[in-house]
Amino acid sequence: MRTWIDQDLCTGDGLCTDHCPDVFVLLDDGISYVRDGPVVANDPGGRASIVTVPPRYEADVVAAALDCPGECIFVEPDETIELPLDLVTTSPVAPPRSSVKTTTGGG
Ligand code: SF4
Repeated sequence: MRTWIDQDLCTGDGLCTDHCPDVFVLLDDGISYVRDGPVVANDPGGRASIVTVPPRYEADVVAAALDCPGECIFVEPDETIELPLDLVTTSPVAPPRSSVKTTTGGG
């Protein structure tokens, strides 16, 4: 899961940092930013400063997004990996051996 803040809408009330200070930080400009460990993603901020949320903080980040009065905390799923088409098999699957009937002849 990843998250970012639209600083243009942030009210600076700090609710997000109350929920999860390990992901959100309020800087001296009175606006909140996301952080990746010790690195604050404030340059340039916005969608361009999206960070990955450690799994242990995901619930807190979602709670912060739901409570955010500016509705400016965005949460996105991790990027998915698209497989090349030639790796997708269309071959029929052989039935399991137990379902294959055999005849022994001479009955
Ligand atoms: S909760 Fe929302 S509006 Fe409040 S400081 Fe955090 S990002 Fe800004």
